[in-house]
Amino acid sequence: MKIICVGRNYAEHAKELNNALPTDPVLFMKPDSALLRKGEPFFHPDFSKNIHYETEIVFRVNKIGRHIQSKFAYKYISDYTVGIDFTARDLQDNQKTKGLPWEIAKAFDQSAVVGDFLPANGVDLHNISFHLNINGKLVQKGNTANMIFPIEKVIEYSSQFFTLKIGDLFFTGTPEGVGKINIGDHLEGFLGEKKVFDVLIK
Ligand code: MG
Repeated sequence: MKIICVGRNYAEHAKELNNALPTDPVLFMKPDSALLRKGEPFFHPDFSKNIHYETEIVFRVNKIGRHIQSKFAYKYISDYTVGIDFTARDLQDNQKTKGLPWEIAKAFDQSAVVGDFLPANGVDLHNISFHLNINGKLVQKGNTANMIFPIEKVIEYSSQFFTLKIGDLFFTGTPEGVGKINIGDHLEGFLGEKKVFDVLIK
């Protein structure tokens, strides 16, 4: 499986990192080795001094497809949850300055946290609220209503380039409020008021 991620999909987040608003979805990928296995702690890597959490809605693909039109896109996703796109911000800033790819900053081991999935059937995909608590305090919240490119557009755009396969994941971008994690932190992700993951930083 692969993980397709969208960058700069919320205007306020693009602004907080001084990025221009995109005219097409900004895509990057993480390999399956990036998944944090359920119940495992996140081991803070030595290669970065500034790992950021990016809390995002994640959709899971349940059907093979390519060249999918946005009006049919909902048929290709079966369930959804909250995840974290861990980002080595210092490495990413360095890569961006040099105009180099982001993979070392985005696709490293354990960089993809995925919560417990809920069925997407019957859910208004454009009004999903989610948030992240660290050590019991709210640090980031968002709602899919504020996405620049809704999931249907992301599927339409990305499936021109990449065949979607069963089990692939979409990380749909983070709202404003990203920040640094520290060893000892306890992260809790919420879909609405339902807790879908716990992660300890070690
Ligand atoms: Mg992200």
